[in-house]
Amino acid sequence: MYHQLVDNHYDFGTGSWAVANNKIQMKLDQYGEYHPYLVDPKKSEFSESELTTLKETCLSLSSKNEADISKELYAQIPHIHYNQQLGYYSDLYVGHVTEGDFRANGSSGGFGTWIFKELLANHEIDGVLHIKPSNKPDKLFEYGISRTVDEIIAGAKTKYYPVEYSEVIKTVKQQPGKYAIIGLPSYIMEIRLLADQDPILKERIKYTIGLVCGHQKSTKFAEFLAWQCGIQPGDLKTINFRKKLPDAPASQYAIEVTGTINGEEKSIVKPMKELVGRDWGEALFKVRASDFTDDVMNETADVTLGDAWLPEYTSDSKGNNVIIVRHPVIKAIIEAGIKDGKVKVDKVDAATIFRSQSSHYRHTRVELGYRLYKQIKAGHWVPQKRTQPSKNFPWHRRKIQDEREAICLKVPEMYLKAVAKNDLNYFLQEIKPLRNAYQKLYRNIHRVKRVTQLLHLKK
Ligand SMILES: Cc1cc2nc3c(=O)[nH]c(=O)nc-3n(C[C@H](O)[C@H](O)[C@H](O)COP(=O)(O)OP(=O)(O)OC[C@H]3O[C@@H](n4cnc5c(N)ncnc54)[C@H](O)[C@@H]3O)c2cc1C
Repeated sequence: MYHQLVDNHYDFGTGSWAVANNKIQMKLDQYGEYHPYLVDPKKSEFSESELTTLKETCLSLSSKNEADISKELYAQIPHIHYNQQLGYYSDLYVGHVTEGDFRANGSSGGFGTWIFKELLANHEIDGVLHIKPSNKPDKLFEYGISRTVDEIIAGAKTKYYPVEYSEVIKTVKQQPGKYAIIGLPSYIMEIRLLADQDPILKERIKYTIGLVCGHQKSTKFAEFLAWQCGIQPGDLKTINFRKKLPDAPASQYAIEVTGTINGEEKSIVKPMKELVGRDWGEALFKVRASDFTDDVMNETADVTLGDAWLPEYTSDSKGNNVIIVRHPVIKAIIEAGIKDGKVKVDKVDAATIFRSQSSHYRHTRVELGYRLYKQIKAGHWVPQKRTQPSKNFPWHRRKIQDEREAICLKVPEMYLKAVAKNDLNYFLQEIKPLRNAYQKLYRNIHRVKRVTQLLHLKK
């Protein structure tokens, strides 16, 4: 089971197995990705019931999928809607927080932090499980528990960085209370699977906030961005992945990195457009498991938040969220926020929310069929997904998937070699043919599109 999951890259590294079984712990591997390991390699025997629990707490192995879980959670809510692409929803919004500095301090519209603050203020929860800076030597960020508004605010901002929740979930099991958690789709789904196995977690984890997630990154993504700013691997202290640039569209954000350069601590701000790694389609340092989820909209979360990547909103550099509301308490919080002028949102339709993530949907949900087909053809086991394996895609879309796969599988090894040589240019040269092949494909696709449009206009 372990090899089926981990060796085939279907493991999201959430930490659920380390919660379900204390013979397992989470560790970062040499590529900067989390995986489960035996605490004591001599104790590798698991009983039948332990194996069943492990299977049922793992997204890639569980007998339940996101549609099953979300149906159990939300189908009975009065006036709730269901949409193939979005899952269940009671309300859909695009907008931002106007109260305080939530928007300025957030990555998008600041709703992630504001909803937690409201839940705490309304005594709905005692603590929040989210991502904070880490003081451990091998990582920059980790899941932590915040119990005050100030702590919640300090944990704002998107971290394109691997995290795992085994330690904080174990704390929840030890410390009675009401908690809310934020996470990427696989993390929220595996919290639901854990809660199905463990009544204490079911009772204590009261609310879940889901983030939309293009894909997960390894630690090397942050390290590589900082290296391009002059901070050598190992010398990076902090990174803000989403620094808003006042006069630029929201989608053109910068990073701010702090680290040691020639013995001196320095902070550097660089727009992402100047850095290799900016292209989310190219997806440098993607955790491969991200290619084997079909959950774009974090369907098992009580509310899903993403960036409003829509031309009518990105022109505002301050940022906006797309918001999919499922839980009645979160619905009431947002409605009260609208009434009290704490948030400014537009009510939108499902098509608008979908449009904000259309490329993500095509890659993650639709073209998953081709990735599954390829895995099966290569003789690998594949997890059961809602998308069926298929090779029926246009030539250029199959090629794009092939190139993305090559980048995902080959780049981590090239990066390790570059770090061993202490040579950033070596890495940039090594990845050039892969990146060129991918970019050439896109250039050709755009050329064909333009010619077709011209021919169409001439008619
Ligand atoms: C790896 C990753 C990929 C993403 N991909 C997309 C995408 O393709 N499309 C899209 O629309 N949106 C994506 N997002 C979500 C988006 O970047 C914003 O996080 C989201 O819109 C919330 O912004 P906010 O201003 O409301 O949140 P804020 O007020 O900034 O609060 C963010 C909250 O999220 C928590 N958080 C940060 N990083 C993580 C993490 N890695 N895991 C769990 N919790 C975290 C913080 O601790 C904080 O509580 C992604 C986020 C991540 C972490």
